[in-house]
Amino acid sequence: MQSILSFESSKDHYTADVCIVWCFDARFSHLLDTFIKDRNYTQIDLVKIAGGAKEIDFVIDQIGKSIKLHHTPRVVLMVHNECGAYGGSTDPAFYEAELSKAADKVRASFPSVEVEAIFADFDGLKLV
Ligand SMILES: [Zn+2]
Repeated sequence: MQSILSFESSKDHYTADVCIVWCFDARFSHLLDTFIKDRNYTQIDLVKIAGGAKEIDFVIDQIGKSIKLHHTPRVVLMVHNECGAYGGSTDPAFYEAELSKAADKVRASFPSVEVEAIFADFDGLKLV
């Protein structure tokens, strides 16, 4: 293989502060960076996929791996307004209901882990 970039990554194992499940919609990428900075998270297992918490079986599998490998004590589930993976709905109540269902499933799967459900809108984040 031909090197295209030299960079030293740490080989140290770590305990994750949080596993964050976020939509890959780039309109909310700066919001994610700001949220991470606001919370002072440094070790993050990030699951960035279309729809965020929408694909719940896949999400639960990923969270389980984060907990197993990195002893993650906290999960943040995000969905956002106008998400294409949800058909682009603009109804916050729709997303709140979807997020609540996803959070309930994650809590049932991992009772010892703290779960936060967050709705991202174009003016910031709201806890569900
Ligand atoms: Zn989305």
